[in-house]
Amino acid sequence: MDINLARAWVHTIAGAVAEQKDRLTWLDSAIGDADHGTNMHRGFTAASAALDGLVPDTVGAVLIGTGTMLLSFVGGASGPLFGGAFRAVGQTIYTPAATTQELAEALAAGLAEVTQIGAAVPGDKTVVDAWTPALAAFRHRADAGADLAEAALAAADAAEEGMRATAPLQARRGRASYLGTRSIGQLDPGAASTALIFRALADAVTAR
Ligand code: ADP
Ligand code: MG
Repeated sequence: MDINLARAWVHTIAGAVAEQKDRLTWLDSAIGDADHGTNMHRGFTAASAALDGLVPDTVGAVLIGTGTMLLSFVGGASGPLFGGAFRAVGQTIYTPAATTQELAEALAAGLAEVTQIGAAVPGDKTVVDAWTPALAAFRHRADAGADLAEAALAAADAAEEGMRATAPLQARRGRASYLGTRSIGQLDPGAASTALIFRALADAVTAR
């Protein structure tokens, strides 16, 4: 991943979030407070716009800048989670380009930060349920010597599978957990956003 690809990733996420905003909010209306799409849209619109004024010299600068904007503009539970995650991913890449294996380590740092902030484990019906399988798939391909396109596609597919697997789960973290067993049967909105973020990476790599 180089600086231009990092920029393209953020812009692609912003486009996908804009397109999926109502779906994300609809998912959050079922088991939350119906603001997730609006939150993510506000954050990624701001992050994407901020990139235009930035002349970054590392991949990390792009992703740290994005995380900082998400921290300021997303709000809710997901602002600190995604903001912290992007900052943590960026903080591991102090070079103009990262190898696929370096990006795998950076994505692991992002998940570690999400876990540190939110204390969710797989099965709690959160972003962790999409990020964990996505990271595992990405790492598996990277370790096998696959290129970024192959690793990102595998991660996107795994994230979507992880997102779908949240439907039968009972939420144990965040607002949805207040619903108890009534949170069962719906997809987790944050897992849906995470799937979208990994799909955007694959799309940005493919479009390059
Ligand atoms: P809020 O719940 O404050 O309204 P959002 O609607 O923007 O915030 O985000 C909700 C999403 O945040 C959930 O779908 C879930 O994926 C994620 N989330 C909430 N709490 C946690 C947590 N402790 N750890 C990981 N993810 C969490
Ligand atoms: Mg909400």
